Amino acid sequence: MKVSEFTLQDCFFWSKQITGCANYQSLTCKFIQLLKSFCWVDSAQAYEVFLNKCKRAPLHTPRKLLVRKFPFDFSDGEEQSHPLLEETVFADQIKLVPVNPNKIIAVLPVTSDIGPNRAIILEGCFEQPALDLLQELLSLYHNQVVLHDHKERDVLTRLPNRQSFDDRLLEACEFYQNRPAGSGIDKASWLAMLDIDHFKSINDTYGHLYGDEVLLRFSQLMENSFRYIDFLFRFGGEEFVVILNQVSRLEADRILNRFRYEVECYDFPLVGKVTVSIGATRISDNVALPSTLLDNADKALYFAKDHGRNQVVIFEDMLNLSDTADALDDIELF
Ligand code: GH3
Ligand code: MG
Ligand code: MG
Repeated sequence: MKVSEFTLQDCFFWSKQITGCANYQSLTCKFIQLLKSFCWVDSAQAYEVFLNKCKRAPLHTPRKLLVRKFPFDFSDGEEQSHPLLEETVFADQIKLVPVNPNKIIAVLPVTSDIGPNRAIILEGCFEQPALDLLQELLSLYHNQVVLHDHKERDVLTRLPNRQSFDDRLLEACEFYQNRPAGSGIDKASWLAMLDIDHFKSINDTYGHLYGDEVLLRFSQLMENSFRYIDFLFRFGGEEFVVILNQVSRLEADRILNRFRYEVECYDFPLVGKVTVSIGATRISDNVALPSTLLDNADKALYFAKDHGRNQVVIFEDMLNLSDTADALDDIELF
């Protein structure tokens, strides 16, 4: 269908579809689906582009651009970039790259003040009316992305919030439930709960503003330490959650301990040294209920708190520890 043949009715139909999505994931799926439905679009792919951009002060030297291909799931850890993304992430206009007389690549940038930069790459044959339509649809999509970011992210740390975490954990459980038996036995996703030690005393000693600064720096350390394929969240207060993807038990332990050590070594402004306790559990097809997984990670976290703090405890190991029975009795869950 030519662009000139679209009616007002079509425009309202697209608007309803784009504005009726429950979250950013479903919005982006719907938008890609809409773009692919145009006969002049051959392919459409969305990306999230991460720079090591710091919100206040540099924590480490910048690393290269990291790109994550949409949709984001728990399966594939490979980086799938596109050569055009590097130069166009900060552009505010559609960039066109002619490949041959019948094929153009269009890079549609989407920036957000609270979320990562995104881009959509289209391949097809676009004439001016199609580009004008794309520009209008992109504006509509962009506005929705910004709205969803504000709803799904925490304002202080800009990490996805508790609501996003609940959705993502449910997706993780469904993913592992539907995974064919025997596949990737060794590698799994891990749910880790991170709780800053003695955070109340930081507030009490230095005031809430410095407490907030610690939370912000802590979230930046998380973004710098964990891999771009992992999912990071602010669970609430001084508690954070990470879903580590596609790692063995040993790797999960190593990655979490690496972060724990980075926090221990970091010099927080005025406050100085801060430590974190971490409880983690494997997300497997056996334990597919989000509430059970959260409960397990929580038990491991409280075990870490009870045994000196500043440590990582894996729930599955905890059960083998000799003093488990006594310790479990002592754990106050909520
Ligand atoms: P533990 O080592 O056992 O985890 O002790 P804790 O002091 O870290 O834990 P507790 O639950 O006693 O205290 C958490 C404190 O976090 C209490 C609350 O006032 C503070 N808090 C929660 N949200 C925020 C926030 O957004 N900003 C600041 N500055 N403080 C917060
Ligand atoms: Mg806490
Ligand atoms: Mg705490």
